[in-house]
Amino acid sequence: MRFMFAAILFCGCSREQTKPQPQMREYNWPIMGTTANLILADDGVDAEKAVGIAKEALEEVNSKLSVFVPTSDASKLNANLGCDYTTYHSFEMIIRSFYFNKITDGAFNPMVAPLVELWGFHRGGEKYDFPPPAEAVSNTLKRCGIEMLHMEHDIYGDDEGNTWCENTIFISAGGRIDFGAIAKGYAVDVAYEELRIAGCTNFLMNLGGNMRASGTREWKIAVRNPLKGVDDEPLEHITLTNGMAVATSGGYEQFHERDGVRYCHIIDPRTGYPAQGVEQVTVIANDAMTADALSTACFVLGAEASKKALAECGASALFVVKNPDGSLRLERIGDFW
Ligand code: AMP
Ligand code: MG
Repeated sequence: MRFMFAAILFCGCSREQTKPQPQMREYNWPIMGTTANLILADDGVDAEKAVGIAKEALEEVNSKLSVFVPTSDASKLNANLGCDYTTYHSFEMIIRSFYFNKITDGAFNPMVAPLVELWGFHRGGEKYDFPPPAEAVSNTLKRCGIEMLHMEHDIYGDDEGNTWCENTIFISAGGRIDFGAIAKGYAVDVAYEELRIAGCTNFLMNLGGNMRASGTREWKIAVRNPLKGVDDEPLEHITLTNGMAVATSGGYEQFHERDGVRYCHIIDPRTGYPAQGVEQVTVIANDAMTADALSTACFVLGAEASKKALAECGASALFVVKNPDGSLRLERIGDFW
């Protein structure tokens, strides 16, 4: 398996270059299997405090949503222990997962975890000769429906006339959940909100290519060429302004190769096979969670079939597709262009 990170490069630039610019301060730290990167462009913001806030926010989300943290809500759900309503982040993720699953006609599906593992990604390993036999794929696919995920609402009342609602989340036996396609974007949004509440105005929060910009500056983001290295000439530049977010999904991030065929880590939940046809997709949205969820779904759907979900979210996308002669073609969807 090969891992390649940092689908996007970035640089900050200001709208008013003539004014003296506050110094950029940049901080990096490892989390969620990737690197968090915070660029502060505020004068006078206590950088140590800001980094502390961002770190805490990302760590909190990770502690609840990561399948690699044994005590997380996701791990409890996967162990069929259920999960009560007090776990706000997982509640939010489940609600959002149902929504993105619906608007992408099933292309976004966090219940695809058993297939991700069958194809030898994450903790699955290669149990079968690779690629796995068709029968194993179709049997595993049966355990990956979104209907394996349940959310129940119970209304309670007491003698004094108080009523309250409790939500319980659980997964049918054999199912497994994985928030890998949405959790990083969501974590960026949580950090973004916390930083804003603390008074940070001009900053860029980036978690492994899931980015959200804040403030009056314009942030120029370089979209990587999927056929080249991260330091090579970018394919395109995207300018983010206040509140906007971007995420990229690419088949080169994690993959296995057999007999000249590349099997990537994004699975088409409709077939059970790794998605094919798109090299890379970058989504620009009004929040990082939407950009993250849609970039994965658009990778599965391709440009044409993604239009509906992108329009529903007011998002735009840059698809990178390979022509038969091996050259790359860019397809732009949405109002951003
Ligand atoms: P991303 O890098 O955001 O595109 O997310 C990819 C990760 O999401 C994979 O490594 C899997 O853990 C998970 N995943 C794969 N296919 C899907 C899918 N169709 N829907 C939701 N999650 C998926
Ligand atoms: Mg994603």
